[in-house]
Amino acid sequence: MSFKDILGHDREISILKKAISNNRVAHSFLFAGHEGIGKRLVAISVAKALNCSAANKSPSLSPFNKTGCDGSNNDFCGVCQNCKDIEASSYSDVFLIEPREPESKGGKIDHIAGTIKIDAVRDVQQRLSYRAARGGKKVCIVDCAEKMNKEAQNAFLKTLEEPPSDSIIILVVSDGGAILPTITSRCQRINFTPLPQNVMLDIVGERLGAAKETAVLLACLSGGSIGKALNLDMDTMLEQRKKIVEVLSRLSLDDAEGMFKAAEKISKGERPVESLEFLKIWYRDIAILKEGVEDMVVNSDLLPVLRQHMERQTFSRLISDFQMVLNAQSDIMPPRYANKQLTIENLLMQLAT
Ligand SMILES: [Zn+2]
Repeated sequence: MSFKDILGHDREISILKKAISNNRVAHSFLFAGHEGIGKRLVAISVAKALNCSAANKSPSLSPFNKTGCDGSNNDFCGVCQNCKDIEASSYSDVFLIEPREPESKGGKIDHIAGTIKIDAVRDVQQRLSYRAARGGKKVCIVDCAEKMNKEAQNAFLKTLEEPPSDSIIILVVSDGGAILPTITSRCQRINFTPLPQNVMLDIVGERLGAAKETAVLLACLSGGSIGKALNLDMDTMLEQRKKIVEVLSRLSLDDAEGMFKAAEKISKGERPVESLEFLKIWYRDIAILKEGVEDMVVNSDLLPVLRQHMERQTFSRLISDFQMVLNAQSDIMPPRYANKQLTIENLLMQLAT
């Protein structure tokens, strides 16, 4: 594997490769973007490129030239001992900090509910103070850096203010809002964009063996996050969509109680953000259908129901409905965290008006 095998993120990778080849790599980076789109993979690849044994060798001299690595100093081969050790997390100069559950519960890695505490930061600070044991660069990757508690972030600030020599720090964040501005201002920020839909379709189709309609739905729902797409359960997803379609067909201002119950169901369900994503796709589909571009409809298996809704709505109303769902969705997501039930109640009332 080399940089060219990473799907998507061409712009982000080219910035990083340029910095490596000019020997002008920043001391600290902030990789920001949606969850599960490959930021951590790129961070680990940077660590490999900075430590790969095949780097700096001309292709003809490099024993690794068959791997796709061109021997230049800004790529990696994926097969030398250094690359292999970094991949296996056993390379002494590359370390990864991740959120963990409390020690009392076993201290396992937990990206959702875990935190990064000051002890982990202190441990890394000590390791960064030693010289690089294998002669390359020390790289510290903090995955889900937004999960550092305040104490840990303050301790980390010291390392960013006085970066140890020969070391690079990469903070990987899915929610930039929860990081202290004093930290973000000391890092070179690289914004990772969601994967394009054609790339998503290839990966989802290949890895899950999903039919085209399901792959399209998964790709849309996951918002360009391959991690999310591969974690979405197809049956649960289709069941969730069925419920939303039911809510839509019963939406009426005469049935306030039914509307509040529906809002409660959506807001207390497992994935309220995805439920609203369904709604967005729904309105997009009806708008597309109105334009007569049937083959671009995501919910292609529900065409008859979509057509019924299409007849009742004007194009401008569809656009404003879509916008209302979009607003409600960003309200309940970080950094706003608005009350889910109230937001969704309000949304359903607006949609029913
Ligand atoms: Zn290598």
